[in-house]
Amino acid sequence: MKSMEFEAVIGLEIHIQLLTKSKAFSKDSTEYGALPNTQVSPISLGHPGTLPKHNNEAISMAMKMGLALDCDITRINRYSRKNYFYADLPKGYQITQFDTPLCTNGIVPIRLKSGEEKEIRLTRIHMEEDTGKSMHDQDLTDTLVDYNRAGTPLIEVVTEPDIKTGEEAYAFVSEIRRLVRYLEICDGNMEEGSLRCDANISVMPKGSNVFGTKVEVKNMNSISNVRRAIDFEIQRQIKIIQDGGKVSGETRGFNGLNGSTFSMRKKEEVNDYRYFPEPDLPPTIITDKIINEVKSKMPDLPRHLFKRFTSEYGLSEYDANVLIDDKLSAKYFQELLNHTNNFKAASNWVSVTIRGYLNENALHLSSFPLKPIQIAEIIKLIDNGTINHSIASQKLFPAILESPSASPKEIVEKLNLGTNSDTSFIEEIANIVLSEFPEKVKEYKNGKKGLLGMFVGEVMKRSRGKADPKMANQIIQEKLNS
Ligand code: ADP
Ligand code: MG
Repeated sequence: MKSMEFEAVIGLEIHIQLLTKSKAFSKDSTEYGALPNTQVSPISLGHPGTLPKHNNEAISMAMKMGLALDCDITRINRYSRKNYFYADLPKGYQITQFDTPLCTNGIVPIRLKSGEEKEIRLTRIHMEEDTGKSMHDQDLTDTLVDYNRAGTPLIEVVTEPDIKTGEEAYAFVSEIRRLVRYLEICDGNMEEGSLRCDANISVMPKGSNVFGTKVEVKNMNSISNVRRAIDFEIQRQIKIIQDGGKVSGETRGFNGLNGSTFSMRKKEEVNDYRYFPEPDLPPTIITDKIINEVKSKMPDLPRHLFKRFTSEYGLSEYDANVLIDDKLSAKYFQELLNHTNNFKAASNWVSVTIRGYLNENALHLSSFPLKPIQIAEIIKLIDNGTINHSIASQKLFPAILESPSASPKEIVEKLNLGTNSDTSFIEEIANIVLSEFPEKVKEYKNGKKGLLGMFVGEVMKRSRGKADPKMANQIIQEKLNS
């Protein structure tokens, strides 16, 4: 057993809280952060005699996800009751879709660090409602329950067991999170639980086609923890088998402090949910017309933007991927292109200069004070030689951030940042530099031509970056060769 190689088999179940204004089957608000138990009507609380009613916004958000992932959309959607007893479930059952999930099949392309691409197949996406929330840390002796979340619409995305490593799972969840943010159907916040991932993990001898016993791991509150939990769990299971034991089917939790998983309940304790049809809700019928309406309200998806950015604008795949990583930077970049045709420079400003500034200051692009037209103007000033690139990013950019209503041109003039192509100015500096490095000048004249860069660099430094680098290069060469 010891020398045997193993491979892992992983399937994910991701719960996504939809950003509707009201709950799935009632008018209660879904706003996050309200005082406990203030967004609870008799419907949310499951009082006898109340009737649920469909929220069309939730259904169209769920469809957007399915359409974005090339799923088949189910035309007649029925609802079921999943019965179990728990304090956070006031009705005693959860309304869910059992045998008619809204979306089936579908594909999620993922991209690994190595550049390798892979497709993860989806089993289904179905609609359901969230439970309330048990609060274990609010009272010394009792667990309290907040029902504000009860009845919030969810979709659950279930994958085929196509994932093989923690890294693949990381890429998959990242892709799902990016997509829900593009579609604006969920904020994708795993820390607050609006996106929750359960991982089903098993291992088997490499090359086998018989899956091992799966373990379900819950409670990972970030994407890196999904990866950590999976990596840990794979090793734990391999070790059990290598030691001659058997993996037992169970649900495990994840401990973020030490990166380990721990047993929560054994398979034998798993509930029988006694699913049966929900009698109080009519089926949702999806027509072609409804599908087309939803499609017409969908934004450009990352894969569309990737194609446009690489083929139309000639950006590298790397640059395109950085830009489409979040919707706002892709949007900012596209707005920039309304004012400049220098695609590469526009991409660099968004992905390097602006992103660098935002990261350093822990800001988000949504609060970035400069308008695309101002950045486009800076690009223009560089392209027409008014200012060089390093001065633009190191002096002009910080200066305009200080007074964001000014035009870049005004600031270049006010702070005298323009490139100096006055030959006498450059010559003066060049003379000083050459006189300070007589040894180096000798070496250059003896054939060490590589020193040219050093001399030009000195001139640039002393001119505080303002000398026109081309001219500095030319002047230094002339002087050295004379
Ligand atoms: P259950 O009946 O226990 O809910 P499902 O067949 O519905 O199990 O699968 C739930 C998830 O577990 C899916 O994402 C599926 O791809 C994954 N899965 C199923 N079998 C295995 C296995 N042996 N190892 C890892 N993942 C698995
Ligand atoms: Mg299942």
